[in-house]
Amino acid sequence: MSRLTRRTFVEIGSSTLAAIAVKPKSAFAVNIREASPKLARTAFVNLPLGHVRPSGWLRRQLRIQADGLSGHLDEFWPDVGPTSGWLGGSGESWERGPYFVDGLLPLAWQLEDEGLKAKAMRFINWTLDHQATNGMIGPSSNDDWWPRMVMCKILAQYHDATGDPRIVPALTRYFHYQLGALSSRPLNGWGKFRWQDEVLVVEWLYEHTGDAFLLRLASLLERQGYDWIAGFANFRHTGVTQRADLAAAALRGDKSEAMETHGVNNGQALKTAAVRYRVSGDAATEVANFKRQLAALDRFHGLPNGMFSCDEHLAGLDPSHGTELCTVVETLYSLEVALAAFGDPSIADRIEKIVFNALPGTFDDAMWSHQYDQQANQVQVGLNSKPWTTNGPESNLYGLEPNFGCCTANFHQGWPKFTSSLWMRSPDDGLVAVLYAPCHVETTVGEHRVAVTVETEYPFKQDVRIHLSPETAFRFPLRLRIPAWAHGATVRINGQPSPLKATPNNYALLDRLWASGDVIDLHLPMIPSVSRWYNDSLALMRGPLVFSLDPGQSWVKLRDRGLTADWQVFPEKPWNYALLVDEHSANHIEVIENPVGSIPFAAQTAPVKLRIRARRLDAWRSEDGVATPVPKGPQSSNLPEEVLELIPYAAAKLRITAFPQLQSEG
Ligand SMILES: [Zn+2]
Repeated sequence: MSRLTRRTFVEIGSSTLAAIAVKPKSAFAVNIREASPKLARTAFVNLPLGHVRPSGWLRRQLRIQADGLSGHLDEFWPDVGPTSGWLGGSGESWERGPYFVDGLLPLAWQLEDEGLKAKAMRFINWTLDHQATNGMIGPSSNDDWWPRMVMCKILAQYHDATGDPRIVPALTRYFHYQLGALSSRPLNGWGKFRWQDEVLVVEWLYEHTGDAFLLRLASLLERQGYDWIAGFANFRHTGVTQRADLAAAALRGDKSEAMETHGVNNGQALKTAAVRYRVSGDAATEVANFKRQLAALDRFHGLPNGMFSCDEHLAGLDPSHGTELCTVVETLYSLEVALAAFGDPSIADRIEKIVFNALPGTFDDAMWSHQYDQQANQVQVGLNSKPWTTNGPESNLYGLEPNFGCCTANFHQGWPKFTSSLWMRSPDDGLVAVLYAPCHVETTVGEHRVAVTVETEYPFKQDVRIHLSPETAFRFPLRLRIPAWAHGATVRINGQPSPLKATPNNYALLDRLWASGDVIDLHLPMIPSVSRWYNDSLALMRGPLVFSLDPGQSWVKLRDRGLTADWQVFPEKPWNYALLVDEHSANHIEVIENPVGSIPFAAQTAPVKLRIRARRLDAWRSEDGVATPVPKGPQSSNLPEEVLELIPYAAAKLRITAFPQLQSEG
């Protein structure tokens, strides 16, 4: 079985999409004949839940979440309230209870909030106390495999945080039961397309017990599940999914068409190659499979906020199409799994692009309301805006449960799972800073306890200061991810410049004796840059932040919804600008830095702004509240030149992100 060495993941970091190979159907058949084979070692290993705790702006953000819907949803939304089937009630008994706890649990442990822990424990205790004698878990009113897959993820996280001795036997009994039952009651519906989320937990349990039947279960789940690897080897879903085509497929009895194009399914499927790799040990093949999947979504459905369109199915490149919140958080989690498995630093760049832009951009500042579908070009939030192919007219409202309540239950995992993934272990008994945000880490390295404090206002500012406090001075390797955009990054140790090479899209390795009081200063130069999107439009980034024009936000309450409300938002100023910038001039854009406010992504206190020359384009309008397709540039305009201040995507709850290019006068 191959092992992913340090050398391997450095090579992965610079590999290209050219070396793409197709894997035969089952990765899980390879090693099962051995009595108790070891799973292939991942490039990095996640720290147990609770070892990474948020600080600085990230702690404020998680506290906002806890003081908003996450901490109060069960008090007024019945689907996760006392009548939930996952608490023994007669109410909602499917995915919503487990969805809620999959995010509430890590949030509670990271904030060390006893009240939130107690809320999560009600669901966990009920599930453990009511396991059937045959091993089945969950409400007896349905036997769908899918919601149980989510509960399995919760139980594994909970065990990592607490070591509760009930978890390993309970999961073992459930997986035994499922292995026996799958032959007569195979995966169907959502579970058939989301099997890889359960295999992740099956592999987690196998690492704890080495029980050989678990590999047979993993193999059976893959064989009964949809073959995402083959689907992307011959990718057919290259345009906007048409409602009529889905209806025709349904009439033919073809349920697969709708599921293959479903945004959330595609987000979850991005972990398929990573879970296959654990058993096959074939890193090269599975990295290629992962990259091909992401590249296809980018090429045909990619958006400048780091996501792909899905409203509710894959919807092409037009930035007026939408992306569902469930897809945002599920894509993030899949990428976090893939980052640990493969170590590729470009996966971390993508995680940051999504988590600092698309995730906070689809909530109000207080996290008391969210959208179902967000748009990169979102010029109005209201009942009349309906670019979506299959979603309803309320899809981009900020509210309690716009369009459908899945995201209301599922969004909670976004910030907490990102926080859990900030630092990881490397196989050579070292630590890796894979993602950047302020945090405090307390963990063990080899046999020693180590505390790490990260002080930073990244992604708004360019400097990251890392304080090390090992219990005793000892030597261990510490790696710092250098993002692909960070040309000229520098490292100082205890104030002295380090001679090491900080190569973009790689890890800088600091292998030395570390003592309490050591300080690392990492400088990541953030130079504004331009990228090209639909119709040759321009989008601007600086570091991991995407920038948008905010045309003013007039919030109008549509209706009260218990402790919260549903809102429409209307623009107060014009948004139809073309920008006087291109790939060569972007690095001259003026950058304004301000302090990071109590609400990190608030428009009123935007911590960083870009000033840029622009003119309005009279012909670019909205129809039914939706920006018409971005005019292909360069465009000329006789209207007066203005200087715009762009703010972070997430701060602009209405926004233009993909702009036409303005014809330069020279
Ligand atoms: Zn959803």
